[in-house]
Amino acid sequence: MCSRERVCCSFCGSANVAKMSLFGTAQLVSQYYCKQCKSVFEWVRWRSESNIAGTRDEGKAI
Ligand SMILES: [Zn+2]
Repeated sequence: MCSRERVCCSFCGSANVAKMSLFGTAQLVSQYYCKQCKSVFEWVRWRSESNIAGTRDEGKAI
């Protein structure tokens, strides 16, 4: 299952992902590769307050 601590694919929800590198200069965003659907997605750190809106709503259950 996805959680704030565990990264999972934003496309298929799989946790079978590999971290690639930091995305540009924004250290809040990391780039991951999903081995399941072979897609690259960006993961935004949850704890950090930033001007990136729209991602925190997904964690409201916790
Ligand atoms: Zn995937």
